[in-house]
Amino acid sequence: ILNPPVIASLIEIQARERPERIGLSFEGRSFTYAEMNARANRAAQALVSLGVGRGDRIGWLARNVATFWDVLFGAAKIGAVMTPINWRLAPAEVAKILDDARPKLLVGEAAFIEALTAAGGGAGVNAMLLETGGADCFDALVDQQKDAVQDYKPTPEDVAVQLYTSGTTGLPKGVVLPNRCYFEVGVAGEGAGVIIPQTEDEAILHALPHFHVAGVNFGLMAVARSMPIIQLRQFDPAAIVKATQGDSPLSAFLVPAMIMMILEAAKSAGASLEKFVGVSYGAAPMPEPLLDAAMAAMPNAVFTQFYGMTETTGGVTVLAHDDHAKGKKQRVSAGRPLPGCEVKIYDPVTGVEKPQGETGEIVARSWFVMDGYWMNPDATKEVLRDGWYWSGDAGYVDENGFIYVVDRIKDMIISGGENIYPAEIENVLAKCPALLEVAVIGVPDERWGEAVKVVAVKRPDAEIDAAGIVDFLKGKVADFKLPRHVAFLDALPRNPSGKILKTTLRGAESRG
Ligand code: ATP
Repeated sequence: ILNPPVIASLIEIQARERPERIGLSFEGRSFTYAEMNARANRAAQALVSLGVGRGDRIGWLARNVATFWDVLFGAAKIGAVMTPINWRLAPAEVAKILDDARPKLLVGEAAFIEALTAAGGGAGVNAMLLETGGADCFDALVDQQKDAVQDYKPTPEDVAVQLYTSGTTGLPKGVVLPNRCYFEVGVAGEGAGVIIPQTEDEAILHALPHFHVAGVNFGLMAVARSMPIIQLRQFDPAAIVKATQGDSPLSAFLVPAMIMMILEAAKSAGASLEKFVGVSYGAAPMPEPLLDAAMAAMPNAVFTQFYGMTETTGGVTVLAHDDHAKGKKQRVSAGRPLPGCEVKIYDPVTGVEKPQGETGEIVARSWFVMDGYWMNPDATKEVLRDGWYWSGDAGYVDENGFIYVVDRIKDMIISGGENIYPAEIENVLAKCPALLEVAVIGVPDERWGEAVKVVAVKRPDAEIDAAGIVDFLKGKVADFKLPRHVAFLDALPRNPSGKILKTTLRGAESRG
């Protein structure tokens, strides 16, 4: 009998086929697949005892602890919805998400729940704590339960996870992802030959936040492929370098900013990264010099890039290892559509499909596109049209079907009627030796509608001023793309996944 594409079946199959294999390690404790499934059964019982049932949201406010997987699988067994919340948000922001999600239960680390309560958030929500051992401790409640199988049979359409978008483009929205969306982790990736363990003992080093789409995906992908998860409580480059000094071959999903920090940490520790046999990356554009440095430092790793978003349960396209080879044009692309996914380029204004090579909005259609935004039909209608998800990203497709992500449509600057993609200017300035990092935004301009502004961070000891930046760009970009404003900052504002917060930069601009 084929198992339905539901999250619960991933752990149940492993518990049946490989009960004694270690599936998860966390801070010195290891769990076999049989134990993981038993803990998920106990978590399901605990949830039921607290009145949580099908369709109920479970708010989760914690760093990456092992119990997350018990509750995710346990919730999936009863059709309840795991709603991990970014613990780095301010308590008032967490409170807003709770008001939106209306969870039946909130589980979290004591410090985060206390900060939330102190700020007056989460009123009326049943909150339980992790790792405290007291009467209101959720793990203790789980331990007291029986390892009993639930009568409920989850379906592919049962909502499994609700993730909040990081809000780089506005207020956070709840992305509703049913079980079928996670079928991708089991099937589509394998169809494309991606994330296949290179050796029998390859483990996945898991350092991505659980509240991020890739954080859930990569754990499930590991379980689907019988790869043990080595769970880190949070991202720490030194801890990652240390973990790679053992015997086990490792793979990891990392965002480019994390890769940069790992390379720096390895360099300063004089450590080798040769134990990495797989590196998957995505969530933000990968600068080519960083890709070169990573491939040199991790010579045994198979590199795989994913391009996608929370609304599509992660990847819609994939760039396979072979396409990363030096000299191949497509190594700076986002790859080709994953099996089961169609990707097209539409004109964002007329909605007509663009010819090959022309830049427009990237749209995608597949079974792993979200149901919609939670309780927000207007926002859903804006992005889901006739079954296609409108990504808000600008891109084009080349003659071999590779998709190139150019920029965010919303970040596009219209100056004197000309469309300017900030990424083009940023890519040129990335080669300026005096600059550490740079962001380009549009600012209101009476004459041109919008004008280009460069916000830059200088390298320590480097000397450059606004005129120097304009000089560097002259001849490399068209004159109408030259900045009319330049500002220097000590650091650029970034979200936890390393994305530059252009809304914050533009906001600072409008406040003067
Ligand atoms: P919000 O939706 O609130 O703006 P967000 O954009 O950070 O938040 P995510 O779903 O985490 O939400 O990120 C998706 C976006 O990340 C994509 O639309 C794209 O702009 C960018 N992205 C993802 N993968 C890649 C990649 N491989 N290359 C370039 N950009 C990428």
